[in-house]
Amino acid sequence: MSPSPQPQPDVPAGLTHLHSGKVRDLYAWGADRLVMVASDRISAFDVVLATPIPDKGRVLTQLSLWWFDQLTDIVPHHVVGTDLPAGCPADWAGRALVVQRLDMFAVECVARGYLTGSGLADYQRTGTVCGVELPAGLVDGSRLPEPIFTPATKADLGEHDENVSYAAVQQSVGAEIAAELRRLTLAVYERAQGIARERGILLADTKLELGADGDGTIVLGDEVLTPDSSRFWPAEDWSPGRPQPSYDKQYVRDWLTSPASGWDRHGDAPPPPLPGDVVEATRERYVRAYERLTGRRFGEPPPRPPARAPSGANQGTEPEPTHPDGTTRRGPGGVATDHPAAP
Ligand code: ATP
Ligand code: MG
Repeated sequence: MSPSPQPQPDVPAGLTHLHSGKVRDLYAWGADRLVMVASDRISAFDVVLATPIPDKGRVLTQLSLWWFDQLTDIVPHHVVGTDLPAGCPADWAGRALVVQRLDMFAVECVARGYLTGSGLADYQRTGTVCGVELPAGLVDGSRLPEPIFTPATKADLGEHDENVSYAAVQQSVGAEIAAELRRLTLAVYERAQGIARERGILLADTKLELGADGDGTIVLGDEVLTPDSSRFWPAEDWSPGRPQPSYDKQYVRDWLTSPASGWDRHGDAPPPPLPGDVVEATRERYVRAYERLTGRRFGEPPPRPPARAPSGANQGTEPEPTHPDGTTRRGPGGVATDHPAAP
């Protein structure tokens, strides 16, 4: 089967298409499972670009799997395995996960250890981020005195996520769950930044999505600690006071806003297709992030999950739980947006 650049295949028997975000396609598989397929689509400035980045979906999926495994003692995750139902396109291999269907909390759980993006913008305006007071004199890329929880609302498609106060999260999900979301987000950040640091990478910030399973247990969902949900900076190049070079789509954003693209970000026209060298350089950044973090080589066939019972977990992940139904969010959330840590 030949891979198509923008996989929008017929829905395989047994699956129901639920949602296509900017990057991922989501299918229900029975009442309690989902198949989450990461495409090679890339978005910038909240727009999906016409040009896919080859292998991006696989890189992000494999990286998420690796991170989930590094975090199991902190928080359970939603991955059931990688054995797909019969009839799925061959092209899904390596990019699709079978996950436990959760009732997602309508909050983007962001942790920041460094100041940049929307956090920097808020700080420059108010001296705080999401209501957290910060010392004076911080600049773009400054390391914060300690990591902070800076939640955001999940915006509707095409809108920007909006930073909110901790009090707003308490209001939305209740004080007890808010405290748990904050604790887990900071614990995941702490673990991940330590692992990344050992590999010469600074984890500036990251966005998590958590949900509740049928028992009410809080479970880590979505993708985790990928360059689409996090800012990774090469430690050797870190220099506060300017934008930092990074392992994410900053390269694409820079090209789109350069004279070379001829694109007016504030106009009505869609962004132009990406030139081959920009595609290649972007792909390389994603692959480099994967290889540097995991210590594995990308490009060999996708890792084979160990053979297990048909419905069982693989990849050393969670056993299959049961869950009544529903991806409906708690609270007034909608569809999420793009770079979550960059609102
Ligand atoms: P965007 O294109 O802006 O990112 P999006 O976040 O809705 O929109 P994707 O990230 O492509 O789209 O799709 C993933 C969707 O699946 C998200 O809405 C996310 O909250 C949801 N999700 C992730 N894991 C689970 C899960 N285990 N159970 C239910 N929903 C989940
Ligand atoms: Mg998303």
